[in-house]
Amino acid sequence: MQTEIHSVYERQADAPYDTLESLGGGSSGIVDRVKLRGSNEYYARKSIRIPPAGRTQRDQRITKIKEEARIIRRLRNNPHIVEVVSTYETRAGFNPTFCILLLPIADCDLGSMLEHVDQMVEGEEKRSVIRTMKHWAACLARATDYMHYNCVKHKDIKPSNILVRGDEIYITDFGIAKDFLPDTDSASTAWQAEGTRRYCPPEVLNQGRRGRASDVYSLGCCFLELATVTITCGKLALLKQVVGQTYAESEQRVLRWIYFLFSELAFRSFRRHTTSNNPDDDVVLQHAVLLPALAFTMMDSTASKRITARQLVTLISVWDKELYCNSCRVGAPGEDPTLGLHSKFKSRKDLDYPQNPMDALKPDFSPLPESWEDAKMKWLKDHMWWH
Ligand SMILES: [Zn+2]
Repeated sequence: MQTEIHSVYERQADAPYDTLESLGGGSSGIVDRVKLRGSNEYYARKSIRIPPAGRTQRDQRITKIKEEARIIRRLRNNPHIVEVVSTYETRAGFNPTFCILLLPIADCDLGSMLEHVDQMVEGEEKRSVIRTMKHWAACLARATDYMHYNCVKHKDIKPSNILVRGDEIYITDFGIAKDFLPDTDSASTAWQAEGTRRYCPPEVLNQGRRGRASDVYSLGCCFLELATVTITCGKLALLKQVVGQTYAESEQRVLRWIYFLFSELAFRSFRRHTTSNNPDDDVVLQHAVLLPALAFTMMDSTASKRITARQLVTLISVWDKELYCNSCRVGAPGEDPTLGLHSKFKSRKDLDYPQNPMDALKPDFSPLPESWEDAKMKWLKDHMWWH
């Protein structure tokens, strides 16, 4: 069994991989589709340029990134975490590079997927996509729980760090590349990079520690966006506009958005029971009904009151194990009283949703609870027992 996964080459041309096409890239590195020379093996290769630095500093960074790659490699038993196949570095020239070979090769990332789905009109094509996405939230929760159980924090969960291939989903970029960004010189810290700050929980924005609960918050933001494109049409840009720069600094507006989604679901549910059968309502209520509620429990601004990944998977299991894909369903933890969560859902009673969902976004919509905690307590009281 191969244990050493890291190689060193003088030049990029010495590495046995042919570059086939660019798959994109960002501030942390570029990604190419490559082929192992003389084989039929294809990989996604992330190349990170090693910044000019003293030899000691460079070696320390390489040691750290190799350790992280080793940790991620340990997570390979979860079907929704990318696999680090191997790593290598090139040393010569002006552009020494650290490369990570990953599987699978993705079709796109969740960020661009969500933007695409957001623009779809209701109809069979969109219903088909929603059916494709039906396991994603539950499987991402399970992958996060698996990661945390193995003492790994992701530190940068956001839609662009979640890859899509066919109807499968994969978490990638475990902050691996951040170790190569310049050190903590305020404006250049990695979490302030484009697009990342939006998904940071309050405790990270306030320069506090980044714990496992931080991953749950960031994943909750992804769930909120997933819920928005699934339940509504063309509202993702409005969500981003309503929220502004960061979710964490917009607690009341996020709460209103969640009520807006609750209200949309209530409206669809009412319509399904009173008027002729609408297949769009069916597919949304079947596959997305839990999403706003999950986001609600995950985006609590107080880290200690936030649901844990383990509680999350338990909650999902008790609701409906069918939400997981076949692999995740096996061994998904069921109800466990020691988790402090008794997730038996009570019969659903409507909160004070407005009849017109858009009213929830109006600042003077009065029945909305004053604070996140008030809203959560009311929601939990109406929907489940929670201790
Ligand atoms: Zn799964």
